[in-house]
Amino acid sequence: MNTVLEINNLTKKYGRITAVNNLSLSIERGSVFGILGPNGSGKTTTLGILLDVINKTSGEFSWFGQPPTKEVRKRIGAILETPIFYPYLNAVKNLEIVAEIKGVPKSNIDISLQKVDLFERRFDNFKTYSLGMRQRLSIASALLCDPEVMILDEPTNGLDPQGIAEIRGLIQQIAKDGKTIILASHLLDEVQKVCSHFCVLKRGKLLHVGTVDEVTKGAELVEVMANNP
Ligand code: ATP
Repeated sequence: MNTVLEINNLTKKYGRITAVNNLSLSIERGSVFGILGPNGSGKTTTLGILLDVINKTSGEFSWFGQPPTKEVRKRIGAILETPIFYPYLNAVKNLEIVAEIKGVPKSNIDISLQKVDLFERRFDNFKTYSLGMRQRLSIASALLCDPEVMILDEPTNGLDPQGIAEIRGLIQQIAKDGKTIILASHLLDEVQKVCSHFCVLKRGKLLHVGTVDEVTKGAELVEVMANNP
């Protein structure tokens, strides 16, 4: 089974607003799949439904060919919003708390910190970390359960150029480790640099999907990104 995620006719309505409009997609194992769209195009709502934190209005989706049960959900790591870490605890202590909550062995902590290149700084308090390091610690916390899929919602938002480069490099490294990545972004150059495939959403509707080269050839793409919803 090479399809990690299959979405069929997914719709989410908030009253009169259709945030996700009849979306169908499939994502293959090993891809770095971008969900590109301007603000309000339905990226976060889609990810929230896939992670079972937002109720869908209609449609279906399956992970790894199975219905989205709690067991299946354990195979997916996600950062929808920056987790709250304790400023006066170091990275190890903070991740020990996350490991306890998630029920994963504490022996995973050092490996996760090595993967995000924070091992050397593991005993420094969270409050001494730069924004980029904080985001890397968020990614380490999502990696703790060694997920097959990582979902990242706008992971470079608010970072300086160095932080952005670090996070993009890290995403590529995680993909090389064999994980499938789903990355929501409003930045065309980000998905073009980092992703193997992407789709374009506008007002909840799928406009394009394919490899980066295929979708980039869509002439109206730049226009979609230039004009917010
Ligand atoms: P952003 O990057 O700004 O978060 P997005 O592409 O992730 O944008 P969503 O946050 O999914 O888009 O929003 C899609 C649409 O649904 C928007 O019109 C938004 O205003 C609306 N929406 C999102 N959440 C709610 C909610 N809880 N109640 C009502 N409308 C909502």
